[in-house]
Amino acid sequence: MPRPWPRRPRLVAGNWKMNKTAEEGARLAREVVTAAGRSSAALALCPPFTALAAVQPIVASTGVLLGAQNLHPEPRGAFTGEISGPMLVALGCRCVIVGHSERRHGMGESDAQVAAKLRAALQGGLMPIVCVGETLREREAGETDAVLARQVEASFTGLPPDELAGSVIAYEPVWAIGTGKVASPQQAADAHLTIRATLNRCAGAGAGEAMTVLYGGSVSPQNAAALFAEEQLDGALVGGASLEAASFLAIAEAAGGA
Ligand code: PEP
Repeated sequence: MPRPWPRRPRLVAGNWKMNKTAEEGARLAREVVTAAGRSSAALALCPPFTALAAVQPIVASTGVLLGAQNLHPEPRGAFTGEISGPMLVALGCRCVIVGHSERRHGMGESDAQVAAKLRAALQGGLMPIVCVGETLREREAGETDAVLARQVEASFTGLPPDELAGSVIAYEPVWAIGTGKVASPQQAADAHLTIRATLNRCAGAGAGEAMTVLYGGSVSPQNAAALFAEEQLDGALVGGASLEAASFLAIAEAAGGA
């Protein structure tokens, strides 16, 4: 079926989670930027806070975006151990992951907190990559669409068009993250359609089709091409496979070529 909208630009972002010291991160970033030009997809690296300063000069002027994994909703103040959007911008970050399931489920981050972080990112000039996704229990109970709609509505209702245009969503089924169990291309495409339909309802007609929606959850060089063959998928948020340059770049090439 011909697609009813022009192909959205592709993005592959690496979420290093709590891995890589500054020195290790710099080494990995150097390996990535050396071969990044082989993919036509945009690339982003999201090291832990402690490696951002070491990775920044390596990605600067390469087109590879520097991203963080979290931010606090407030720009400054008495929030011990937290990092704000303006601090990330000052380090050269261009994007930030918001509402990753390891924070929603591991740290009890609520939909309202995720929405506040999304707004804080946008106010600071960072592109938020907002993660949404259902648990295995929710999928098995037939609640996937309702969970996705609730999470998308909580973050995006009423967001003005320029802020929508500066945002990215990552569909990350919780049961697929770090488990080696990848969603089938059809399961991912169905979820992306639900996300787009919800955006059209809560943020305005056309918002869904315009949004860059990534898939995340055990993406590997082996399954990337089949996933990216789905028109709905605009790229990937990659965890484990982003910790080695070869596997991250293979995924980026699959995204760029599909
Ligand atoms: C993630 O952390 O966002 C992720 C998708 O992890 P993995 O690729 O390891 O499943």
